Amino acid sequence: MRIDQGFSPDAPLHFLMALNDSPFIIPSFVSSKRVPGPPPLNFSLRSKDEALEQEASEAYIDHLRRLADEWIDSGKSRSGEGENPVERRLTPNLRELLDGWASRNKPFIGFKPSGDIVLFMPACKMDFSSPLEAARNEAVRLFATFMDSPHRSRLCKCRRCNVYYYTQRQPRGYIKNGTYCPKHRNSASANRSNLRRRIPERKRKLNLASRCWGRWPKRLTDAGTQAQWVAETVNEKLDRYCTPISRNWVTRNRAEIGAEAQLTLQGN
Ligand SMILES: [Zn+2]
Repeated sequence: MRIDQGFSPDAPLHFLMALNDSPFIIPSFVSSKRVPGPPPLNFSLRSKDEALEQEASEAYIDHLRRLADEWIDSGKSRSGEGENPVERRLTPNLRELLDGWASRNKPFIGFKPSGDIVLFMPACKMDFSSPLEAARNEAVRLFATFMDSPHRSRLCKCRRCNVYYYTQRQPRGYIKNGTYCPKHRNSASANRSNLRRRIPERKRKLNLASRCWGRWPKRLTDAGTQAQWVAETVNEKLDRYCTPISRNWVTRNRAEIGAEAQLTLQGN
């Protein structure tokens, strides 16, 4: 079923812009009223409570983001690391909100000449008497129209910069490392491969350090000197492309170096 009356077909775009704080599309929730002009003028001016308008706009965006986040989070894995946008489901809270909104505003169906069923959304009258309530209602209305678009599984939030964006194609399934905006996608995957490379290097350093640890010429007795000597000895043995270790590195990893030395002694 498509919604194509009583709202702008640009709803998914509006939704995205509002989520990313593009203020020019935020509706006005505060009515302007006529106030008398200063004495020499004999006409009235239109005035608005700017502070209230600002508060209502913030409430609108805040509410939209909560709805979007709850929707996005419903597709995340238990650990939160991966996510599957196709598996997103309405939480009981979102269902209650949308059902409540629908029963109050009563969208209705009609038929196109082609036989397609069309969902008509009522154009909601803004309730200027309580701007904050109107802002929250308007957020639910926009979210409701967004839910009836194919964009609902294409909406993603960058794990790095929190910007919202739509994927170009429908996601196919599980995204193991989470979602990143086009700007951060490459650096996120570069970081992951760095991490993969670093683990064996660290392991190799720990191993070398544990072997050196026991061979320290015990002329000097304080642990600081021993750490310095271990660091220098390990660095001589390291491959050229490895980052050299410092005395502090040895001190910091002292427990692991000890455990590694223990294992070597046991012949494991
Ligand atoms: Zn980003």
